Amino acid sequence: MADCLFCRIVAREIPSSIVFEDDHMVAIKDINPRAPLHVLIIPKRHIATLNDLTSPDDVLVGELVRRAAALAAEHGYAERGFRTVFNTNREAGQSVFHIHLHLLAGRSLTWPPG
Ligand code: 5GP
Ligand code: ZN
Repeated sequence: MADCLFCRIVAREIPSSIVFEDDHMVAIKDINPRAPLHVLIIPKRHIATLNDLTSPDDVLVGELVRRAAALAAEHGYAERGFRTVFNTNREAGQSVFHIHLHLLAGRSLTWPPG
């Protein structure tokens, strides 16, 4: 989608700090990190929200989640702990309507989130 921020990041039209890339996803450092490690794992294909997923997307979503765990482990947080979050729509605070999995680690994270 031409006017989608994350489609433009995937297309390298907007610069970002990429920490992982394969055929299906990119993982980038969040521009406004909320924890010492704050990465966004973004599918290359435009999907606006989790409400738009269909069953063929199950493999993709599994890959995003497994990549989050791998990146957490790579940065030394597998045992200490990490949080993975998809925000969906207004009340959850979704601001970019192209799904992305937040990976947060490196500090004590409170529960429930605000
Ligand atoms: P959401 O609020 O949709 O769950 O998360 C969007 C995230 O994207 C936010 O954490 C925000 O800081 C991040 N973000 C917004 N614009 C940019 C950008 O241009 N580059 C990067 N790397 N992150 C961004
Ligand atoms: Zn998009």
